[in-house]
Amino acid sequence: MFKNQTPQQLSAYIAATSALLMAALAVLCREFRVFNISWGSIGLLLLSVFTVVFLANFQFIRYYIFRRIKLIYKIIHRHKLPSDFKADKLDMSKNILANVEREVDEWAEQNDRDIEELERLATYRRRFIGDVSHELKTPIFNIQGFIHTLLDGAIHDPQVNMQYLQRAAKNVDRLQAIVEDLETINKLESGQMILDLREFDIHDLTDEVYADLEMRARERNIRLTYKEGAHQHFRVRADKESIRQVLINLVHNSIKYGKEGGVTKISFYDAESYILVEVSDNGIGIDPEHLKHVFDRFFRADKHRSREAGGTGLGLSIVKHIIEAHKQTINVRSTQGQGSTFGFTLEKA
Ligand code: ADP
Repeated sequence: MFKNQTPQQLSAYIAATSALLMAALAVLCREFRVFNISWGSIGLLLLSVFTVVFLANFQFIRYYIFRRIKLIYKIIHRHKLPSDFKADKLDMSKNILANVEREVDEWAEQNDRDIEELERLATYRRRFIGDVSHELKTPIFNIQGFIHTLLDGAIHDPQVNMQYLQRAAKNVDRLQAIVEDLETINKLESGQMILDLREFDIHDLTDEVYADLEMRARERNIRLTYKEGAHQHFRVRADKESIRQVLINLVHNSIKYGKEGGVTKISFYDAESYILVEVSDNGIGIDPEHLKHVFDRFFRADKHRSREAGGTGLGLSIVKHIIEAHKQTINVRSTQGQGSTFGFTLEKA
């Protein structure tokens, strides 16, 4: 009955009960002539008892609640309580305890969410450090091996000395590539990368990327072209340099995992508010089981091929981060042995 009452109502109930009891006692005393008391005095007594008990209770409950609430607020609020947080400022006409209960529930829920997030971050950090050290170990181990072999005498062997030095140098390049990619991922994940959104022609940017990767494509005798009808020029709004990075990574992958003598094709599709850009190859394709992991950090379907091609396993992860930072989407379709298509959207200018 008293569960949802305000402190004011509670004090009134107690005061009314006390006043009625006193009045009943006074009436009984009058009836049995214990002492003579007029009806007017009984009325006065009723009023006085009600007022005194009400005020006493009201003050008691106010200070009692205030002390409890203060303690609870000190625990749940990390900041200092405001200086005007005083007992006489409590609004006793409201169900204060219900409000506090709600605030404590919200605080507990927020704490649960914080703990979950911290656990997720701790797992992520552990995995990240594990992945990074694992990735760095192989090139470091290789460099160490070649240098020690050279120091142990191979430096004087003209048959192998240059070869070992070149292999050591290749591993140093790999270390550098991993560190650079890690730096980019770190910037993207920590939100330090500020997008410089501008309007530009996506076809022109693709031409530039094709020109930059022409030599690499020629090494594998791969043609870099556009799909039929994809010669239209579209203006998009995005961070040009990060989209250049996206195109470089996708086209470079289409060369690395493309078929020798094959073809890389880019196409553009005009959707209502965005342009869909697709990069296709007719290379090795991706196993359906691996498809959902290709954007994961350090994921490689074929470790040997990726390392041979100087891959870090971070390229697609960077691509995904960049596209998501633009609030756009990226997807992949692939058939093993036939080729892959990576498609991403860009905001139309
Ligand atoms: P990597 O540096 O190994 O190329 P990425 O993050 O760019 O790393 O790609 C991850 C993995 O996805 C690659 O190791 C490869 O197995 C697969 N992959 C990426 N692009 C293609 C593609 N066009 N065709 C086939 N497999 C691909």
